[in-house]
Amino acid sequence: KFNELLKPIQIGSMQLRNRIVMPAMVTNYAAADGAVTDRFKSYHQVRAKGGVGLIIIEATYVHPSGKGFKNQVGIYKDELVAGLRELTEAVHEYGARIAVQLYHAGRQTTSKVTGMSVVAPSPIPCPVKHETPKELSIDEIKELVEAFGQAARRAKEAGFDAIEIHGAHGYLINQFLSPYSNKRTDEYGGTFENRMRFPLEVVKRVREEVGADFPIIYRISAEEYVTGGLTIEDTKVFARKLVEAGINALHVSGGVYESSAMIIQPAAISQGCFVENAAAIKKAINGKVPVIAVGRIKDPVMAEQVIQEGKADLVSMGRALLADPELPKKVSEGRIQEIRKCIGCNQGCVDRLFQDLDISCISNALTGHETEFDVGSPANKMKKVLVIGGGPGGLEAARVAALRGHEVILYEREDELGGQMQIAAVPPHKEEINDLADFLINQVEKSGAIIVKGKEADLKTIQEIKPDVVIVATGAEPVIPEIPGIVQENVITAHDVLRDSANVGKKVVVIGGGMVGCETAEFLADRGKEVTVVDILDEVAADVGAPTRGLLLNRMAEKKIKILTKSKVKEISGDRVIIEGENGITEISGIDTVVIAVGSKPKDDLLKLIEAEGIPLYSIGDCVKPRRFMDAIHEGFRKAYSL
Ligand code: SF4
Repeated sequence: KFNELLKPIQIGSMQLRNRIVMPAMVTNYAAADGAVTDRFKSYHQVRAKGGVGLIIIEATYVHPSGKGFKNQVGIYKDELVAGLRELTEAVHEYGARIAVQLYHAGRQTTSKVTGMSVVAPSPIPCPVKHETPKELSIDEIKELVEAFGQAARRAKEAGFDAIEIHGAHGYLINQFLSPYSNKRTDEYGGTFENRMRFPLEVVKRVREEVGADFPIIYRISAEEYVTGGLTIEDTKVFARKLVEAGINALHVSGGVYESSAMIIQPAAISQGCFVENAAAIKKAINGKVPVIAVGRIKDPVMAEQVIQEGKADLVSMGRALLADPELPKKVSEGRIQEIRKCIGCNQGCVDRLFQDLDISCISNALTGHETEFDVGSPANKMKKVLVIGGGPGGLEAARVAALRGHEVILYEREDELGGQMQIAAVPPHKEEINDLADFLINQVEKSGAIIVKGKEADLKTIQEIKPDVVIVATGAEPVIPEIPGIVQENVITAHDVLRDSANVGKKVVVIGGGMVGCETAEFLADRGKEVTVVDILDEVAADVGAPTRGLLLNRMAEKKIKILTKSKVKEISGDRVIIEGENGITEISGIDTVVIAVGSKPKDDLLKLIEAEGIPLYSIGDCVKPRRFMDAIHEGFRKAYSL
């Protein structure tokens, strides 16, 4: 029962059909000048159709100097209003409400993105973006307050139901408030009173433009999680000021770019990480306006509980809605088991965004491609499809092919479906990968596909089945490097470790410091092993997205995992490992186990055989080239759709 989550609520004059909010997440789908594109519109419309109560569109820059991402949506000029109006109409068609998040990046951008000087309260570079900003003059501050006001006017003209002022995550408004980024000595800096001036002037100016009845939400970082930054005690005081200033709801987030793991929240950050802060703010303001909780709330059971316990009035479920736009609908129809859960991997969304790419989702190939495919519609010609390999790519291919009406037969040589997902879910903080595996397996099992497990498909199988097309998704296998002594009893692969199919002694050397090597090292350290990771590169975990990597490296240091970079294992001899590093040759003795984690190579023997027979085939995922799950899943989706 989700009575609280599904109950309507009022934010100022705005009535919402339920308590589920889609918070602002930059997509990089807009045009270069910030205009709404069809893609941007469809992405939001599909989520409105999925039943969400309120959509807050991505951080929308109010002034060209405040742009933070290449294809971010803007509201800095009147010409952008028409496109924004089309967007609000598209969302209203499906009964959701829509707010725009007004923002200026301040120092958390670069002049390469803005095409002009980066500006901030003080000339202190953002530790992530590194560019020294120009200190804003009083006149320039007034100009930016006005830019927020004009943006608010445009928002109302465009048909938005509310405005959210982005006062969080270390952007300009937050920069003024925080002693960490504001070192001014004039009326905009120094005392708390002075640091609150810019945010409160923005609120006042926005209110003047939109009128007394128009809902204004304010987003805060309750804690900045940096030395010298704002704490919950500061934000409690500020929250009371905001309520006095007439805002209609508070959205309680956390972090700035330097503590970006708290903004981005990889799977190692606990689910519901800011709920207690939301509760503290709600208490501080005596519940005078609704409070929205955010932060890895992906599970509707948790969302319901947050509201039931009175910790917040609404919940933001951002990445949860990237993964499954129909989450609210499935909740209201009691189809919880069918929800495609976000797994907190950041692979498809935030990691891509911070490479200035458009976002998607590891498990949902439709995210950002909403109008390109109609998965529910039958294919033009029904085919007999044999999928070989029940890992992420094969499962997705089987799921989509079955949805399109094809006759699907799935072969998996292991006794269980899931492939590499089973291994990947084993290291610390990776268990949510099981949610992805469970979703795909359940969907394929329900689809009517014939599933054959524990049997290897070969040419004979294909000749017997006589498929119209074969999809080969046989995956990859570990690379064994050519090192003298590599073939001996105490040398195993990371897969052996994670599958629990080999004994591991006390003292371990892991060869390879990529994601798999580091995660396996942590897994072993948690079991009391003394682990050394050896890698040829000058840094480890280079293939891991920045926030996830930062947390992983911290944990490795805490767990006393020794890391040798720019080093190469030259020889293994019994319990001795000979390593060549920058300072010459060293030897580690008394080693019980050597673990190989230097990457994978395609398992493509069958692929070559089928090719030679001239049978129509598609190959997907790691058997083409070992890559990430997202590549396998999205390839499986596209190939199966195109049959
Ligand atoms: Fe969640 Fe990963 Fe999808 Fe991002 S890519 S929405 S973190 S499942």
